[in-house]
Amino acid sequence: MKSDDIFCKLYDVWKRDGKVIFENDHAYSILSVTPATPGHAIVIAKDHVKCLEELRGIALEGFVDAIPSTSLAIQGIYNSNPENMVRFYQSLKENPPVPPSADLAIRMLQDRNLRIKPDTAYNVGINVGGYAGQLVDHLHAQLFPRREKGPGMVTAMEKLLQE
Ligand SMILES: [Zn+2]
Repeated sequence: MKSDDIFCKLYDVWKRDGKVIFENDHAYSILSVTPATPGHAIVIAKDHVKCLEELRGIALEGFVDAIPSTSLAIQGIYNSNPENMVRFYQSLKENPPVPPSADLAIRMLQDRNLRIKPDTAYNVGINVGGYAGQLVDHLHAQLFPRREKGPGMVTAMEKLLQE
């Protein structure tokens, strides 16, 4: 933890406030405050590195391992009580940390899948570099739980790249 980006700066706060849903020695995860699907989480490297290329050995292993472990953590939230996820989006709506959070939280609260536990179906995306849409210069992966048949990453990316 050695920079002033949000992922370095806010880890201690998120940890204190119970927002860290999974962590190991090399990565931690939180639920996204700009969610695209219910349970959308962000897996964040604990080392301040910009991209995968800068991680080696056990640090890389720990970061990659955090992806399926975060999927399990999301399933665990649902196992303990799906209303926990509902409460998260209600609080996001009431106290949006960034402007888009409120509208996106409302969208999550209206999502027919909100209370449905995702099994092991998810998409993972990593933006590397500004041209690829990386907004925070600190390695992180987006994990999008999926509950019903829909387009995969290639289809989604084709659509995005044509815009
Ligand atoms: Zn950082």
